[in-house]
Amino acid sequence: MMKYSFVHRDDSYSRQIKDNLIKRIDGMIDDTNPDIVFTIGGDGTVLDAVSKYMDNIEHILFVTIHTGNLGFYTEFLPSDIDLMCHLIKNGDTEYQSYPLLEISIDGHKRYGLNEVTLSNTRHLLETSIYINDEFLMKTRSNGICVSTPTGSTAYNKSLGGAVMDHQVEAYQLTLIAPFETIKSRMLDPIVLSKRNKLTIKPLTGHYDISCDRCYIEENSINEIDITLSDKKVKFMKNAIHTFTSKLKDKFIGQ
Ligand code: NAD
Repeated sequence: MMKYSFVHRDDSYSRQIKDNLIKRIDGMIDDTNPDIVFTIGGDGTVLDAVSKYMDNIEHILFVTIHTGNLGFYTEFLPSDIDLMCHLIKNGDTEYQSYPLLEISIDGHKRYGLNEVTLSNTRHLLETSIYINDEFLMKTRSNGICVSTPTGSTAYNKSLGGAVMDHQVEAYQLTLIAPFETIKSRMLDPIVLSKRNKLTIKPLTGHYDISCDRCYIEENSINEIDITLSDKKVKFMKNAIHTFTSKLKDKFIGQ
């Protein structure tokens, strides 16, 4: 029997959709070990759900219903629920997989779907950047953002990073307000292919580390190693939403 769970925005409309789905989906609710996780809300709700189920991520299909602002991870509208239930009932679901960043903070591993950032908005944060243990540059900026292909349309885009096709096996570094002088030259954005390891070594104290929606309580770290993981997140696909249509709907308009 199919096991499923919900992560939803805490508003009456999202709860109503959840109750409607419970009546229509065959199977049993299992919040510990679900086969399917329905997210009801926006991209933030999807990020919360992925973070919640990270330990079991490769065995879960995420079905994402959008009740907030137009999202990049949200594939279905409340008006698609009939179609969605029909596809799930008939086992006729198609999915697409998106890679995660593997982030090792002084050896402690975690994963991110959008990005990891290291930042200090009050003072210049200085770091050394290495690619495959080879020194590339020192940075002086308000911070560094390293994003996945799907995260490229989020914070990365606001920082002047390129929007990446979601299927590209690469990740991207951008700097937050780099303070460039003749004594301090920097290069960004930089897109790295999956097999490369990026290392960030903070040279000054006092910074925040965040991963997607989570704030990571760590300071005085020696280094962060980042690669694009083999681990992926599976999303049920809605055939009418292409990468191009999502870009158009969110950023271009008519
Ligand atoms: P939020 O409530 O501050 O909203 C951020 C916006 O980003 C929302 O409209 C959301 O739909 C959108 N978004 C999230 N992931 C996206 C993606 N992959 N592609 C396109 N749009 C996306 O924050 P939230 O909803 O909790 O989302 C957290 C994300 O917000 C972070 O992962 C980060 O990417 C982003 N963020 C952006 C900025 C910025 O652009 N200046 C600053 C901080 C955080």
